[in-house]
Amino acid sequence: MTDEELLDAFPGVRIDADNAAWHRGLLDHRLLVNRCDDCGRWHQPPRPLCPACWSRSITPTEVAGDGFVALVTALRQGAPQPGVDYADGGHALVAVELDEQPGLRLAGTVVGTPTAGIRVGDRVRALWRDIPGRLPRADFEIVAGADTAAGEGAGR
Ligand SMILES: [Zn+2]
Repeated sequence: MTDEELLDAFPGVRIDADNAAWHRGLLDHRLLVNRCDDCGRWHQPPRPLCPACWSRSITPTEVAGDGFVALVTALRQGAPQPGVDYADGGHALVAVELDEQPGLRLAGTVVGTPTAGIRVGDRVRALWRDIPGRLPRADFEIVAGADTAAGEGAGR
């Protein structure tokens, strides 16, 4: 895919050298997070240098998309968007802490569970959905509740 095709795929999105791999990955349903070649730290959102050791040697590296809910909030109003329903307890917005590294988080929503039923510490995995009119991105689905995932999630 050329740079021009990538820009066309994400109209209105600012794509630069730092986040191009992230967006290319989304089109292939892969989560490519920038990782430092020198210290091994992952960082998201993409930056031109490692925030831990300032190295400029960065390689987009795939993460599995497994983790736990670190934060959940309910959006009760907002602009109309495909796949977003603000009714019935609000649209869930979560920060998922990935298993690859403490503090490495991705934002998304949880599908298949009512917003009121989502708990900090719930184990989740990435779930790709193709919704017409929406850019590709990973959502999440709960694979184990916070109470059954005790010790792995909340409190880490
Ligand atoms: Zn580093």
